[in-house]
Amino acid sequence: MPSRKFADGEVVMGRWPGSVLYYEVQVTSYDDVAHLYTVKYKDGTELALKESDIRSQSSFKHRKSQSSSSSPSRRSSSRSRSRSPGRPAKGRRRSASQSREHKEDKKKTIQESSIALPKPSENNTKRYNGEPESTEKNATSCIILEQKLKPDLEIKRVLEQYSLRSRKDDKKKEEIYSEKKTFVAVKPIEKVSTKTKEMEFGGRIGTFMLMLFLPATVFYLLLMCKQDDPSLLNFPPLPALESLWDWRAFGVILLWFFLQAVFYLLPIGKVVEGLPLSSGRRLQYRINGFYAFILTAAAIGVLLYFEFELHYLYDHLLQFAAAAAAFALALSVYLYVRSLRAPEEELAPGGNSGYFIYDFFTGHELNPRIGSFDLKYFCELRPGLMGWVVINLAMLLAEMKIHNLSVPSLSMILVNSFQLLYVVDALWNEEAVLTTMDITHDGFGFMLAFGDLVWVPFVYSLQAFYLVGHPTTISWPVAAAITALNCVGYYIFRSANSQKNNFRRNPADPKLANLKFIPTATGKGLLVTGWWGFVRHPNYLGDIIMALAWSLPCGFNHILPYFYVIYFICLLVHREARDEQHCRQKYGLAWERYCQRVPYRICPYIY
Ligand code: NDP
Repeated sequence: MPSRKFADGEVVMGRWPGSVLYYEVQVTSYDDVAHLYTVKYKDGTELALKESDIRSQSSFKHRKSQSSSSSPSRRSSSRSRSRSPGRPAKGRRRSASQSREHKEDKKKTIQESSIALPKPSENNTKRYNGEPESTEKNATSCIILEQKLKPDLEIKRVLEQYSLRSRKDDKKKEEIYSEKKTFVAVKPIEKVSTKTKEMEFGGRIGTFMLMLFLPATVFYLLLMCKQDDPSLLNFPPLPALESLWDWRAFGVILLWFFLQAVFYLLPIGKVVEGLPLSSGRRLQYRINGFYAFILTAAAIGVLLYFEFELHYLYDHLLQFAAAAAAFALALSVYLYVRSLRAPEEELAPGGNSGYFIYDFFTGHELNPRIGSFDLKYFCELRPGLMGWVVINLAMLLAEMKIHNLSVPSLSMILVNSFQLLYVVDALWNEEAVLTTMDITHDGFGFMLAFGDLVWVPFVYSLQAFYLVGHPTTISWPVAAAITALNCVGYYIFRSANSQKNNFRRNPADPKLANLKFIPTATGKGLLVTGWWGFVRHPNYLGDIIMALAWSLPCGFNHILPYFYVIYFICLLVHREARDEQHCRQKYGLAWERYCQRVPYRICPYIY
């Protein structure tokens, strides 16, 4: 059976990426591995398209003639399925303000396109070949461009940009435009299939193994940490199963989860919209994680004032981890069961393979909500991340109590402060989580539930847990050097993340005027200077440097406290590969050009 539908040289209709417009294109080649056709538009632009974005000319003409006979009512129903950002849910009436917003969004989309899309008069093949003088733009030129344009002129210009026919014959051109508009109006957008085609994490077997391996690793690490000699091969004796269960610990976990849920529901903090879903709808999220953290700190302060023994956590950490794991498992079962009733368009692009184990692990439903309570968004940063800080604090108090110290050790202070800074930063910049892969691509299933509620609080606090049983003395100069390393990591991490987030939010921001970017056919640019021109994932580099700084205060006697940095490098290398794959699919040749321009992924000259 042939693996491709269209032959080289064949003239077909190709969809312009990110739009609903189809143009006549010629197939120039086919990539068997990526399953992408390289097609050439009449203006010379070359793009890589998926087979689903290509139609044979005959079927297209047939559709068009059918469409033109459609009734106006049919046309409008087709329009309502357009992927315009900000479009409300199907069947919902749009209010005047929503309609205004929609118009503004539409205008913005056109403006964005006008920045990014190539002009037919230029050699657009070059533009996508990453040649500096033609591929890069900077934000200032965009501002000037946008300010000069009047909305109607912009629309006209965009239409002109799309024109692939002779411009001499104006009448003919008008016909072409109306023809195109007809296509836009009457051609229903195909329902975006969210079916997962390529399975990650080793597919069904891999995810099954991970479901056993991840909890086993947590218990292994915690048991190891409790040993006097935590050498890797000095396996700890297995505890009796019943000793792992403590109803009191389970009660505390439940209480903690529901307390955080109450804080999340408080009507404080702004409400923002997430990225558009495949249906065009945008979900709303309340940004009050930082306030929740302040309230949590106040609650812990009150408990300590009344001499509540927080170091109880140190003695029963294993039981707390078991309780959190049981809770995460129960939550995953609930999430999977409810996902079976979720409509197709609400399923996660990464967790809809049709295989139970795989979908259960990666998460079947993209944004499970109970009313306006978003379960995934809530779990991402709150119970686990704040739980991590509380466990660290408990370890600090346990160290003081067990070793009879009036002040905690320098190592413990460093570990607590560095990780506190990381958590506070994440909560302060909570809005940034809305553009991460976890929110936009991955469903909510065992992977994220276990990761957020068990792995983060109980594994990320390993250094502090280790220091209680294995005191490590470091000198002030060493502490200063480690602090400097953490600051460097934090600076790279924060400035890289902010640079990209600001650029995504407002590419015309004057503060970003010095940055250059490669335009892509989706309307979004890819930064090629600044941090994102240094390596392709500078934020991961900063994160890894910080992870090292968190382990160094534990000295070099054992590798155990370095588990985090080793695991984290593996996680980010794997995550980077996943992200690259998504970006290659999204941006095609423009991404290839970006990779040519910025060859290193995470660390210059190393990886
Ligand atoms: P990133 O913040 O790295 O975002 C990747 C996305 O950025 C891409 O999909 C693309 O999306 C966009 N992008 C890529 N290149 C460019 C470019 N040149 N110019 C503009 N945009 C570009 O994703 P993550 O969600 O993986 O990471 C977020 C943060 O969370 C990181 O700092 C990471 O270190 C941290 N993290 C921490 C973990 C932990 O356990 N502590 C775990 C995982 C992540 P698009 O083009 O669609 O905007």
